[in-house]
Amino acid sequence: EAMLRLSGVEKIYNRGQTSEVRVLNGVDLTLARGEMVALVAPSGAGKSTLLHIAGLLDTPDAGRVEIGGEDMTGLTDRRRTMVRRQEVGFVYQFHHLLPEFSALENIVLPQLANGVARRDAVARAQALLEQVGVGARAGHRPSAMSGGEQQRVAFCRALANGPRVLLADEPTGNLDPGTSDQVFAALTGLVRGTGLSALIATHNLDLAARMDRILRLDQGQVVPG
Ligand code: ADP
Ligand code: ADP
Repeated sequence: EAMLRLSGVEKIYNRGQTSEVRVLNGVDLTLARGEMVALVAPSGAGKSTLLHIAGLLDTPDAGRVEIGGEDMTGLTDRRRTMVRRQEVGFVYQFHHLLPEFSALENIVLPQLANGVARRDAVARAQALLEQVGVGARAGHRPSAMSGGEQQRVAFCRALANGPRVLLADEPTGNLDPGTSDQVFAALTGLVRGTGLSALIATHNLDLAARMDRILRLDQGQVVPG
């Protein structure tokens, strides 16, 4: 059962200009339900572009994106935004948590925006924080937390609305190796057992080796790693 499928995806920046760059040139990619897949590529290869297209933040110039079996081509902006909010979670190298809100509130707010009752949102946020070992930090603002704790909170926020697909762009890229391992273990714990499918861009080959599969982005195409 495919949770995320990209077929023949192309992306060209600055088309028709001397600076034209063909970043994606026929990307085919399928993530099965519950699969955790590493995406390895050098900087500038187009990982961010690929993740943005997969997560409906950007549209391809050609090809197709399917999430949960539904073709995203030609959806209205409104419907795309709804699918993105409900079905896709994002994590970046830097946490992008809201600085003036507590860890808990950072996980509650996207749920409220999605129509969840506050009491239920708080319960879910607290449970997620406990699952990644930072339950005791729920009331702290991001600035009062370590880098590893901040990333754990960012994972919880990404999963707040129970997405089917998690897209992560160098989620441990800003952490020292020991912290990376712990934070990756926390992420694995969240993903495993939920049926969530995760595509995780990383330069860290040790982490990549612990995932179900490694893919490489090479010359605008996705190939087995
Ligand atoms: P990665 O995440 O692998 O570092 P990106 O997807 O960010 O790669 O970028 C791939 C290539 O596309 C780079 O050469 C980058 O400069 C270029 N690029 C990315 N976004 C844009 C854009 N909005 N306009 C023009 N070029 C872009
Ligand atoms: P990353 O570190 O994730 O690879 P980049 O620094 O490559 O990110 O790009 C950050 C943002 O800037 C991305 O959203 C990308 O689309 C955009 N970008 C990258 N290169 C260019 C470019 N040459 N022109 C315009 N936007 C770009």
